[in-house]
Amino acid sequence: MPQFRRQLLSLASVLAFVTPVFAGKLAIVIDDFGYRPQTENQVLAMPSTISVAVLPNAPHAREMAIKAHNSGHEVLIHLPMAPLSKQPLEKDTLRPEMSSEEIERIIRDAVSKVPNAVGLNNHMGSAMTSSLFGMQKVMQALERYDLYFLDSMTIGNSQAMRAASGTGVKVIKRKVFLDDTQNEADIRRQFTRAVDLARRNGSAIAIGHPHPSTVRVLQQMLYNLPADITLVRPSSLLNEPQVDTSRPNLTQPNNGAPRNPFRGVKLCKPKQPLEPIYASRFFTVLGESITQSTLVQYMRLQWQGWQ
Ligand SMILES: [Zn+2]
Repeated sequence: MPQFRRQLLSLASVLAFVTPVFAGKLAIVIDDFGYRPQTENQVLAMPSTISVAVLPNAPHAREMAIKAHNSGHEVLIHLPMAPLSKQPLEKDTLRPEMSSEEIERIIRDAVSKVPNAVGLNNHMGSAMTSSLFGMQKVMQALERYDLYFLDSMTIGNSQAMRAASGTGVKVIKRKVFLDDTQNEADIRRQFTRAVDLARRNGSAIAIGHPHPSTVRVLQQMLYNLPADITLVRPSSLLNEPQVDTSRPNLTQPNNGAPRNPFRGVKLCKPKQPLEPIYASRFFTVLGESITQSTLVQYMRLQWQGWQ
């Protein structure tokens, strides 16, 4: 027995010694870039491991993408994809019923407007990313441009990973949204959650937005990271083990009636907050009366990435 205890102790000390090797890798992406250069410049002043995702049709898209790349930040295309809820859409929002040619044209256009992008993530997209056939067309185009796909996970049953199988496209998934609210205490809590997940799973990806409150929290917390957490670019996580928990969605896109017809960009002014992907918003849209139902509670958990 004493010998067993000794072995146990030495095993524990070895584990304690090697633990830092398994330190958590944390990737942070700030998306919706291209509308608010002033706040975005503050993001670009942060460590270059913070990555940015640029909306291709935003007024400052090209300028911010070039600036980000020149200051060493990884650049992604933040591509608008159709949500389930009815809301004004950006120009060239991908919809499941679009043809492969149309989707390829939109991605080619985005590549030209966001120079130096190495990956792409979805802006909104609960309708588009939950369509297997829609996402298969996206993956074919991404393969051509050698872009990875960061799934913003705006819906629990995203088909992105399933759609990418058989293509060379690498898919990684967002685990935490930093700023569903713009309350600094909430953002700090979400940041801590991302750190915990990175530590527990080896890596985690968090997405935030260029809000002043998000910038303030990052400015505080990035410089006080726990010693076992390393900031990384999303592209360095492409070979991390990924788990696809989606169920197949073989619903054919409805070619006749687009669910979210394009209604112009007039609501996407720089000063107007974008309507991205906030879980709280989606559940508000679903209706107050059903938000307490078991199904909605389940979906909320799915949404938050606890799957
Ligand atoms: Zn967005």
